[in-house]
Amino acid sequence: MKTITYQSTRGGESGVTASQAILKGIAGDGGLFMPDSIPTLDIPLESFAELSYQETAYEVMKLYLTDFTEEELKECIRGAYDSKFDTEEIAPLVKVGGDYVLELFHGNTIAFKDMALSILPRLMTAAAAKNRADKEIVILTATSGDTGKAALAGFADVAGTRIIVFYPRDGVSRIQKLQMVTQKGDNTAVVAIHGNFDDAQTGVKKIFSDKEFGKRLDEGGFRLSSANSINIGRLIPQVVYYVYAYARLLARGAVKSGEKIHVVVPTGNFGNILAGYFAKQMGVPIDKLICASNDNKVLYDFFTTGVYDKNREFVLTMSPSMDILVSSNLERLIYLSTGSDAARTAGLMKELAQTGRYTVTKKMRSCMKDFIGGYATEQQDADIIRHIYKKRGYVMDPHTGVAAAVWKEYCEKTGDETTAVIVSTASPYKFSKDVLEAIQGPIEDKNEFEIAAELERVSQIPVPAAVRELETAQIRHTRECDVEDMEKTVAEILGI
Ligand SMILES: *Cc1c(COP(=O)(O)O)cnc(C)c1O
Repeated sequence: MKTITYQSTRGGESGVTASQAILKGIAGDGGLFMPDSIPTLDIPLESFAELSYQETAYEVMKLYLTDFTEEELKECIRGAYDSKFDTEEIAPLVKVGGDYVLELFHGNTIAFKDMALSILPRLMTAAAAKNRADKEIVILTATSGDTGKAALAGFADVAGTRIIVFYPRDGVSRIQKLQMVTQKGDNTAVVAIHGNFDDAQTGVKKIFSDKEFGKRLDEGGFRLSSANSINIGRLIPQVVYYVYAYARLLARGAVKSGEKIHVVVPTGNFGNILAGYFAKQMGVPIDKLICASNDNKVLYDFFTTGVYDKNREFVLTMSPSMDILVSSNLERLIYLSTGSDAARTAGLMKELAQTGRYTVTKKMRSCMKDFIGGYATEQQDADIIRHIYKKRGYVMDPHTGVAAAVWKEYCEKTGDETTAVIVSTASPYKFSKDVLEAIQGPIEDKNEFEIAAELERVSQIPVPAAVRELETAQIRHTRECDVEDMEKTVAEILGI
């Protein structure tokens, strides 16, 4: 097997092993790690039709994580994709009308972040052992709601690690907040910031690049790492379910061998859809990657005009995990579209940091032509949730709704009849109120748990344990801070 090493999209580091890239999270120059080439699948897709999710995960991840032994990788996979998931299939592909919905929310925090974050802590501790890293790993994470809980659940009580999560105080759903502030584990900390998600993400990136602070951490016996989707250890596990989904389609005869499909992905930080692009480069017959945004439609504008411009109003929507104006992982696509020109990429990212915008060339745009941008308004989102429920009896969450609405509009506009996989990123129970209101109209005077009970009646799907147990869970985290004080807060928590 070919050895894959990793390099920074901004040119400051190269020849980094997979395990080192996972430990570091982000490159020292602020860039993101990229594999020196994207490997191709080394067994035919037809063979994948016979494989379980775990087996598929091994076949895909071994091609990227080439400094992990077979035993190490299989051990990580076994521990991650087990009964924490409420379905043996891990990522079931459900037929809804003429389309397929890939349900990625069966893990223990009921959002798709579990797909990667149930394995990342295992990869990271294996990587630490491999590199004889003796410092305590501090996972620093900014969250728009789902990453935080999934990372907390993944890292809670994992020896040799601490985790600190920053979330926008008024920018997450009630259930999301409850999930985080009730997190158990002596190594966990949760902080509400007085700002939005982009403030949180920018603040975290700043702490990572503060050399002075890095020294203080080092002296205190700590090293920082990231559980955000900029970590290659999150991106790679996400490639798996695109391979798996295609194999499921083959297995049930829904597509012929080699037949192309579209994937429709509700997008925020651009990690999920980028994993789909990696799958395509590896040989999965994906035609278009339809990038679905909510009212924060920076990516839609980017794919339609070639201008990335974050200078606009930040809109709070009912799909909060997609309320993002700086999609970090786009940097990886930019890098690929320049033909791996790190200096060019670094230049554009500097422009973004200084002016909030950049423009890509025609040639770069032609390298991105597999991506189609679309967006759905709040009204369109609610309409499609109601429509699909009324017509098919299927209940989807508002993030998945954005994708479904974008797909519907795309079909109406183009008449395209290609088979599509709509990626479903959260359980409707994570956003019960918005979902139930979309279906039944305004709700007054009901708490989250009464609403969940009502949604159970409507959807005929039992309330997941992840929601049920919140009703009686003890609140453990009440810390808040201003955006400017994030670094200070980290120091306080670690006692340095
Ligand atoms: C994180 C998240 C997204 C966005 O995924 P990206 O990889 O950031 O594009 C969409 N939906 C849900 C429910 C999420 O948690």
